[in-house]
Amino acid sequence: MLVLLFDIDGTLIHTRGAGRRALEEAMREVFPISGPVADVPLHGRTDRAICRDLFSAHGIEPTDQNWTQLKQSYLAHLQRLIQTGPGEVLPGIRPLLEELRPREDVLLGLLTGNTAAGARIKLSHFDLDQHFVVGGYGDLHSDRNDVARVALEEVERQVARPVDLRRVWVIGDTPADVACGRAIGARVLAVATGQHTLGELQQTAPDLALDNLADANPWRTLWHS
Ligand SMILES: [Mg+2]
Repeated sequence: MLVLLFDIDGTLIHTRGAGRRALEEAMREVFPISGPVADVPLHGRTDRAICRDLFSAHGIEPTDQNWTQLKQSYLAHLQRLIQTGPGEVLPGIRPLLEELRPREDVLLGLLTGNTAAGARIKLSHFDLDQHFVVGGYGDLHSDRNDVARVALEEVERQVARPVDLRRVWVIGDTPADVACGRAIGARVLAVATGQHTLGELQQTAPDLALDNLADANPWRTLWHS
């Protein structure tokens, strides 16, 4: 079984700012914020960690109730804003997923900092959500490495046996994706379709780094090695 666990933002798709705008609008809707919403780093991080930083920056208690309210507002704004944005599916992604999905020896999954519902909104907008059978999401964990562990557990539950980690790949666009793949002993493909250059990603020592997946052949040759 070949297991491919994909990051979403900057790897499968770009929402071109819809996610950030939805989060800012949700912060303003749920909490009494005057002035700009704090500019916290988003890339490669989990939604739980991003919101924890936003709460800290604005002096908001990091309670489960505040998290739940912010998440519900964010999802509603995301659903609306993603319709208006100039988002895109990244090169080579759609044909690759359509080719691999019917294969019984391939399991496609997600390993993302998005919440499960946020991931569904983003991927269904681009008609990609039906490809993924399992996932690890950013609802519960601040640390992406913990999300990777959950994703691997979900994979093992799905295939009902331990998997050969040489045949598990994490695909992502940030050093955090490379690190979380390493944390679970998987192999890692880094793609320079997000905020990081190919050179920056190569410095994190993935098994392979590519400009994009328009030509996936250099990666395919490693699937059976
Ligand atoms: Mg990403």
